Amino acid sequence: MNLFEYQGKELLRKFEIPVPEGRVATTPDEAAEATGFLGNRVVVKAQVSVGGRGKQGGVELVSSPDEAREAAERIFAIDFYDQEGYKLKQAADAGELSEEQSRVWEQKKDQAEKAKRVLVERAGELKAEYYCSLILDRTSRKYLAIMSSEGGMDIEEVNRTRPEAIAKVTIDPLLGLSDFHARELVFGGNLDADARKGALSILPKLYRAFVELDASQIEVNPLVLTGDDKVMALDAKVILDDSAAFRHPFYEELKAAHEVDEQERRAKEHGLNLIKLDGDIGIIGNGAGLVMSTLDVVKDAGGSAANFLDVGGGANAEVLSNSLQIITENEEVKSIFINIFGGITRCDLVAEGIIDALGRLDVKVPIVVRLDGTNAEQGRKMLADAPHPMLVTAETMLGAAEKAVQLAHGKEG
Ligand code: GDP
Ligand code: MN
Repeated sequence: MNLFEYQGKELLRKFEIPVPEGRVATTPDEAAEATGFLGNRVVVKAQVSVGGRGKQGGVELVSSPDEAREAAERIFAIDFYDQEGYKLKQAADAGELSEEQSRVWEQKKDQAEKAKRVLVERAGELKAEYYCSLILDRTSRKYLAIMSSEGGMDIEEVNRTRPEAIAKVTIDPLLGLSDFHARELVFGGNLDADARKGALSILPKLYRAFVELDASQIEVNPLVLTGDDKVMALDAKVILDDSAAFRHPFYEELKAAHEVDEQERRAKEHGLNLIKLDGDIGIIGNGAGLVMSTLDVVKDAGGSAANFLDVGGGANAEVLSNSLQIITENEEVKSIFINIFGGITRCDLVAEGIIDALGRLDVKVPIVVRLDGTNAEQGRKMLADAPHPMLVTAETMLGAAEKAVQLAHGKEG
């Protein structure tokens, strides 16, 4: 799990690593209020999971509540991309995409991340920016600590152009980080004399945080030397190891902040995976592969999906009822396509589930059902024997898709 900066910093603070004082804001007005509280000179920072948001306009230095409000408004409107996506976006804006790149960009374009929060932090004078990180090195099965005086920028770039400016120290997890490791990092990384003491005191805390939190990465870029000679973490990219979630109940809470959408969140609560798109056909299927090909077939039939939901292996009455309910809450949905291939899942139970769900819900859009595989005949017969004004069945996947498209566009199937 990739944490937002504000979450990473909250954790670092618990390990007594100095971080700037700040407030999280979810609206421009809240950002303005926080700015007044923090003394007017602040940075407003987009809280997104992709890196390099500074370059994308996601970090603004301002000096009044009004400026902070405007900065937050701008930041909330930005489409953030991962590094590859951002490069493609720049090339696209400059009209320099190759054919292959255009294809990739077409797909990436819709995967933009919007900031739902900004972190408003008290800003100060910076004398120097450094780089510091701890990562799990899976190949050597050890930890790797990296420190450099070349902070604030892309460390991979520094690694290419000036590898001598970077200190790398391998740490055996059984022995831990010793003082000599910390000195090697601080001196080898060429930190300024004024920053050494502060950095030397931060490193063991960072190491403790890394181990105790079961992190696979903590990257502080930049670690800074402030105008009053304090060393603090100005940015934090923390990745927690999801396989350690069982021993850290707080992981769940951190995860909640990453749920994108209320509807998607509730789907998840029911153990269902809902993804929203921008068409008008709701899709329910079992298994990721089938759901993906259903999207393709709907497209071939001239339609587009409003969302899709994978019910996985548990296509019983309750699951189908929950799924239909969630899918129909989306007002864009004009028809629903349920595509089930029975393997372990039995189509007769799916049919029972659909009939049961239709009995419970007041469904106002047509539902096209295609059942195939285990007990498909039986399932289809059950649906035929329980006619419902909104229910349409189809034998083939393409036939079903075509019907769903026609019905979504207001034509009789
Ligand atoms: P990133 O681009 O997503 O890595 O965002 P960062 O949080 O690392 O911020 C990018 C840059 O903004 C930093 O390297 C600093 O140069 C600048 N910056 C961030 N916070 C402050 C601050 O409090 N004061 C000043 N003067 N600059 C800041
Ligand atoms: Mn940074």
